[in-house]
Amino acid sequence: MNRPSHRPSGGALVLFSAGQDSTTCLAWALERFDRVETVGFAYGQRHAVELTQRPVVLAGLRGLSPVWDARLGADTVVDLAAFGALSDSALTADRAIEMQANDLPSTFVPGRNLVFLTFAAALAYRRGLETLVGGMCETDFSGYPDCRRATLDAMQQALTLGLDAPMAVETPLMALSKAQTWALADTLGGPALTALIAEATHTCYRGDRVARHAWGYGCGACPACDLRAGGWTAWTAGGARA
Ligand code: ZN
Repeated sequence: MNRPSHRPSGGALVLFSAGQDSTTCLAWALERFDRVETVGFAYGQRHAVELTQRPVVLAGLRGLSPVWDARLGADTVVDLAAFGALSDSALTADRAIEMQANDLPSTFVPGRNLVFLTFAAALAYRRGLETLVGGMCETDFSGYPDCRRATLDAMQQALTLGLDAPMAVETPLMALSKAQTWALADTLGGPALTALIAEATHTCYRGDRVARHAWGYGCGACPACDLRAGGWTAWTAGGARA
């Protein structure tokens, strides 16, 4: 495939939500790419806390390493309110967080990653970035079908064909447990990075930024908090290596 002349560098665009997973992915990308940008999506989340935390996390990462600071470029937040309005799920509407009859949690927003990746690819193309990085994980999460590597392989092919340009989709957490994700962060940035992730990133579905646990802020009861707390406990017990 010809490489269009307007894509001079092979930098990365990280799908960044200010959560534990995407922050770890961002650190991973900052170690590997000379130029890294971030993109986030506002789609009517019940809790805008992840949008308020993103500049905090980005500033924290810049402060950890002059190399990362030099490599980290623009942050873009894309307004996808129209998509949020289509998605009658517990993240965007006033519904309980529970398992549904189809074995997917009510937090599932149908096709979310497909939409995000398409918008991200359009931005990456314009910015001359050839790799998308996302925190999708199929090991211990809730069975979201658009987090499966097979789905992302198909998206990578569709984006590359549809843009007629290279567009890799990297998912460094795909095979990792939540404990191994903490361990990966420790490998990438040591205790300073794991402390930043615990303090500044947000995972809780209920948007709780009041209750502080060893693993960070959260209600401590929703599925996202359960995963984060369980991973932290397993990692600090010494059972996980990235
Ligand atoms: Zn929670």
